[in-house]
Order: sequence, then C-alpha cells, then structure tokens
Amino acid sequence: MHNPTQKKDHGSFHLGNASYQGSAVHPSRFPPDNGAEVAFAGRSNAGKSSALNTLCNRKALARISRTPGRTQMLNFFAIDDSHRLVDLPGYGFARVPEQTRRKWKMFIESYLSRRRSLKGLILLMDVRHPMKPDDTQFLNWCAHHQIPVHVLLTKSDKLRRGKLRETLRAVRADLDGSGTGAQLFSARDRTGLDEARRVIVTWLSAR
Ligand code: GDP
Repeated sequence: MHNPTQKKDHGSFHLGNASYQGSAVHPSRFPPDNGAEVAFAGRSNAGKSSALNTLCNRKALARISRTPGRTQMLNFFAIDDSHRLVDLPGYGFARVPEQTRRKWKMFIESYLSRRRSLKGLILLMDVRHPMKPDDTQFLNWCAHHQIPVHVLLTKSDKLRRGKLRETLRAVRADLDGSGTGAQLFSARDRTGLDEARRVIVTWLSAR
C-alpha cells in the first residue's frame, strides 16, 4: 500500500516557489498536462486557502483563488516548469442552485478522470465536522478514478487533545482499507505541516 508518510526527505521541491499560473474552467485552458500536480479540495470554509498558504509558506498565495469570478474555477500554481498545485473550487454550499451543482460536478469529474499529471489529492475537512456526505461522495469519485487521497483534518487548534484523538481514530476507521491517509492539521499553530508537505512532495516526485 502507498504510504507517503514514510518518506523522510522533502525532496528538491520548494513549495514556497509556488506562484499563480492561471485559472480555468475548461480543460482547453488548463496548463499543459505534463509533469506532476497535486490538487486541493474540500467543502467551502474547510480551511483550504489557509492550508495552501501555510504549506507554501506564503501569506496570500490562495487569495488569488478567492477573487470574484475565480472561486468556481480551477486555480493553478506553478512550483517549477513541470510541478503544480491546483486549488479546486470549494463544494458543499447548501444553497447553491441545482444547476450550478451539476455543472461543478461535471467539470470536477472531467478533471479527475482525464488529468494525467494529477498524482494525488489533498482533501480538507474541518476536524469539527468531518466526513460529511459531500466529502464521502468526493472520496468515492477519487476511488473510482484511482486517485490517491490524503485527508487533512483542519483547524486542529480548535479542539482538545482527547477529542482530536477520537476524531482522527474515527476518520481513519472510516477510511480503513481505502489506502487514504488522514492527519491533523492547523494553519494557525502549524500542526501537521511537515507530514502534509511530505505527502505532497512524494506525490510530486512520482513518475
Ligand atoms: P476555505 O474556504 O476552505 O478556503 O477556508 P479558509 O482558509 O478561508 O478558512 C475559513 C475560516 O477558517 C477562516 O475564518 C479562517 O481564518 C479559519 N481557519 C482556517 N484555518 C484555520 C486554523 O488552522 N485554525 C483556526 N482556528 N481557524 C482556521
């Protein structure tokens, strides 16, 4: 089984080099599908922007994805010529019209199913509200398309240690047998930063 956390070395990638490359909805506008990329997904408000900024050691990298017009797009960040991070639009807003929801599903599914350079997906969930139906559906799509997933249970500074341990155990039990790893993460106190970076760098190094 794939266990990216075993790799100790951060490799030669500097996530801190990530710079905004462009936004797109349609695959024809995506950067060339070569090299390796890692995508970030999660319900709106899960802490995706904060995690991206912290992982890349940048204050406002992901602010770009939040500018009007770009929140429903895929936002690409280049680390170098052939390595990228991709911020997928947040999901799970209760009051989004059905048509928007369907459109989102179509283009995310087309990205997940066709993007050859996609080596893994970081799925963010607020540690206080993990494994909502939208998250489970997302995990099912990734499993269907055989995309490795690693779960960050975000905002871990918000809960006490006992509750954190209990939640992590429950989420891991839910994921058991799927090959998907899960860890605690906090952009605020930087819990789990090294572990998450190791997973990303291992995926980016994949041939
Ligand atoms: P996004 O919608 O998934 O991109 O989520 P954001 O990164 O914008 O975060 C949503 C809210 O959660 C904001 O108010 C953040 O300040 C807060 N937040 C994000 N990460 C953390 C964290 O690690 N700890 C705490 N306490 N709050 C966080």
